[in-house]
Amino acid sequence: WQSPPSPLSPELQLQDVFIAVKTTRTFHHSRLELLLDTWVSRTREQVIRSHLVVTNCSAEHTHPALSCKMAAEFDTFLASGLRWFCHVDDDNYVNPRALLKLLKTFPQTRDVYLGRPSLNRPIRASEPRPHNRTRLVQFWFATGGAGFCINRKLALKMAPWASGPRFVETSALIRLPDDCTVGYIVECKLGGHLQLSPLFHSHLETLQLLGAAQLPEQVTLSYGIFEGKLNVIKLEGPFSPEEDPSRFRSLHCLLYPDTPWCPQLVAR
Ligand code: UDP
Ligand code: MN
Repeated sequence: WQSPPSPLSPELQLQDVFIAVKTTRTFHHSRLELLLDTWVSRTREQVIRSHLVVTNCSAEHTHPALSCKMAAEFDTFLASGLRWFCHVDDDNYVNPRALLKLLKTFPQTRDVYLGRPSLNRPIRASEPRPHNRTRLVQFWFATGGAGFCINRKLALKMAPWASGPRFVETSALIRLPDDCTVGYIVECKLGGHLQLSPLFHSHLETLQLLGAAQLPEQVTLSYGIFEGKLNVIKLEGPFSPEEDPSRFRSLHCLLYPDTPWCPQLVAR
């Protein structure tokens, strides 16, 4: 069902937010299990409605394959009728409370494309034009590895370039990855703008720089290998780096201490 966008629409709830996690078979054990044990367990309703959408996209790390998955995420969101679309990778931790708090700050009357750029300047692309000409375009995009969100109002306007087979076509046209393609559609086709948020994080940044006190406020976090070393958030415990290399389990216990597998503080 589709809720009509009315000024009387009730306060945003987590159930109004569609969270899509992009993944691939080879990561189901190594990455997805960690997410299912941690933040997904707190947002079951939001993470791809019927929970798993198996795409026909090829299991490759190529632009067309990854764009094909983004298209599936986008179409599933459109069909859901929900108010916000948020995309994350399978190496992201999403803090649902922080996400909801952030999304609540935007009025429904605006078009919103929210995330964190990986570059400190707009990216350039050459857009094919009729008669073998090309046009140089510039736009900002939110890096997919940090997650981003788009509200329904904007997503509906994106449909002519993003729904069905058109997302992959648009991506092929500018020969850039899926996250760049989203930025291209919003900024170059619709005249919108990326709203920067420092609360989204990918493993392209030095994650250790986040202070422990700031961690609970962040909307997304990540982990990865950079120059042979683990790039992870800095958290003392409760789990050791050996038990919890990503630090996501430790973070989850900080945010949700009542989780059964978190070490319980003994009340005395
Ligand atoms: N991914 C995928 N198919 C692949 C490789 C990766 O769907 O063949 C997904 C992966 O599950 C993750 C995202 O693409 O959600 C980014 O992959 P990864 O973190 O391995 O690479 P990065 O781009 O961060 O270096
Ligand atoms: Mn990654």
